[in-house]
Amino acid sequence: MRILADLHCHTTASAHAYSTIKEYADMAAEYSMEAFAVTNHGPKSADGAHIYHFGNLVVVPRVINGVTVLKGAECNILDSDGTIDLPPNILEKLDVIIASIHQAEYAPKSEKEHTKVLLNVMDNPNVHIMGHMGREKMPFDIEKVVKKAKETKKLIEINSSSIKKEGRILERCREIALACKKHEVPIVVNSDCHICYDIGNVGNAIELLDSINFDKNLIMNTSLEKALEFLNIRL
Ligand SMILES: [Zn+2]
Ligand SMILES: [Zn+2]
Repeated sequence: MRILADLHCHTTASAHAYSTIKEYADMAAEYSMEAFAVTNHGPKSADGAHIYHFGNLVVVPRVINGVTVLKGAECNILDSDGTIDLPPNILEKLDVIIASIHQAEYAPKSEKEHTKVLLNVMDNPNVHIMGHMGREKMPFDIEKVVKKAKETKKLIEINSSSIKKEGRILERCREIALACKKHEVPIVVNSDCHICYDIGNVGNAIELLDSINFDKNLIMNTSLEKALEFLNIRL
């Protein structure tokens, strides 16, 4: 099984990422991928992209070197109400919105508070993907969150970069994936790449999903067509 539409990629618009959109497109073409999404950090991150970056993504061609480019953001979750750091008028113009907790913008609290914030974020109609849910300092009630994801049609992300960073995150991702399997909740598998060579590099996440016999029909980015259908995007 391969991921042909990597929906979480950071470009040089984020200070800690090192490749341009063109470099990602060329590498995706070399890897025979169909698509990727440009999802830089929202403006509240120290190295987030300026708000103008998101407003001007319209100038990026839809297809580069045969690869479809989706325009998006990885927004920061800012408070327990589930506020994120881009306004609706910008979010509505983008294809893919990931909402993630980053500790610099939302300090770890209690499991109860983390659950509350995730449930609140899922009420935002502009959010598509709940980013890197397996991070260990952010425990939450997996059953409650996964059930609400199904109800609100949000995708749970299994994030390959997080698994690479720390072994313990793998365990947490397994628990989340098992709950998604049990409740038949759609997911995405993303690289969260910060350099073009890592695009679509999600082998560890696929291994994890294979180890629990996860139904691949529930993985919404194995092809561009499937991703577009779920995200309700017409090219
Ligand atoms: Zn992130
Ligand atoms: Zn990211």
